[in-house]
Amino acid sequence: MVCWDPRIEEMPQEELERMQYKLLKSLVYRLYSFSPFYHDRMKEQKVHPDDIRELSDVTKLPFMFKRDLRDGYPDKIFTASQEELVRYHVSSGTTGKPTVVGYTQNDIDLWTTSLARALTSCGLGRGDVIQVSYGYGLFTGGLGLHYGAERIGATVLPTSVGNTERQIELMQDLGSTAIACTPSYLLHMGEVAEKMGISIKKETKLRTGILGAEPWTEGMRNRIQDWLGIKAYDIFGTSELSGPMFTECAEQKGIHIWSDIALTEIIDPRTEEPVAPGEKGELTVTILRKEALPMIRYRIGDITSMDDSPCPCGRTHPRIQRITGRVDDMLIIRGINVFPSQVEYALMGIPEVGQHFQIVVERKGALDDMLVRVELNRESFSDKITDIMAIRQKIEHRLRNSLNVMAEVELVETGSLPRFEGKSKKVIDKRSL
Ligand code: ADP
Ligand code: ZN
Repeated sequence: MVCWDPRIEEMPQEELERMQYKLLKSLVYRLYSFSPFYHDRMKEQKVHPDDIRELSDVTKLPFMFKRDLRDGYPDKIFTASQEELVRYHVSSGTTGKPTVVGYTQNDIDLWTTSLARALTSCGLGRGDVIQVSYGYGLFTGGLGLHYGAERIGATVLPTSVGNTERQIELMQDLGSTAIACTPSYLLHMGEVAEKMGISIKKETKLRTGILGAEPWTEGMRNRIQDWLGIKAYDIFGTSELSGPMFTECAEQKGIHIWSDIALTEIIDPRTEEPVAPGEKGELTVTILRKEALPMIRYRIGDITSMDDSPCPCGRTHPRIQRITGRVDDMLIIRGINVFPSQVEYALMGIPEVGQHFQIVVERKGALDDMLVRVELNRESFSDKITDIMAIRQKIEHRLRNSLNVMAEVELVETGSLPRFEGKSKKVIDKRSL
């Protein structure tokens, strides 16, 4: 195993926890003294920095929510002055009003270090050409990956999103060995390449995908890997944490969260109590060293579980499992909870189904109606109405079994559903329009 920083990445867990405690304690003192926002929050919660006597005392601290950042728009809760900032990013605002994140030079360095370790753990390094097809600009993905890739000595091809045919030509001409983008964009790229008569698997040097910024499933991973001949790794982050920060290692068994950077809790969103390792709950993160926009117990809203068993790769840092959705992503259909990822999971197990689907929910009378539009594989598309009916029934049956709710299925032609360059929108909920 090659580590970017073996001293930290292989550090025994007890040592890491001691380090986390020290960092947490000094963070809390600093914010109590210098941040009016955190000072007031701690007072309200009746907790003083002296009450933090061991790592588990983190649970005494108040939570922080996205709405706190919105209320503080644009920079009211920053703990660095504008002169100290070297950059701003603005979140994509997929769940409401955008939020602004400011960075000091140390914040950028920490983010870059986190990605340098992560990209190294995916087997990347000097000699690789990393095509960064995340958006450059206000979105954190492009610039974040760009700096991380440069830090490990790779060569960056900063294509950003869009202009897909040109991206594919450059991928061939400059020999990209890795690509960083959303899984939806890579699917789109694969299709465009095929239309151009190019097989990414056979006619490019691409062997690694660093894919994230939106939920995707194991089924989708397997399809992408087989189709494009690459290993696809999950990458996770949010703009409030800095941006995309953490990835899976070569084992592909969960995303390592560097303990010296982040203290992770998984809690039950209703009781706000921690859940046991392996159980699903809401990801809550304290970034232990952040200067401009500190985050204590930030309720990210993503649903996952924690695995602190030793990773076969030898890194001692805990892993979170694939994000299955957001607390606010959950659709309630006739009283039953449905996550879009469950739909994807069920669909990807059906060989005739293509890569793209869309969920449309509307209220008809007093009842919720869920329609799933599904693209079939080109090979499975047939003129014979009886074949099509049989496939449709199979999909409806599979969905009903795995979701416990009836969904109507509409089969649509390959290529007819919208394609996305950044984050995809798989759900149209007409009830909320
Ligand atoms: P916004 O909330 O405005 O979209 P971000 O661009 O920071 O802001 O998006 C972060 C969110 O994107 C995460 O909270 C999560 O819901 C989603 N996300 C990012 N990476 C992944 C991933 N690998 N798997 C699932 N969801 C992800
Ligand atoms: Zn590992």
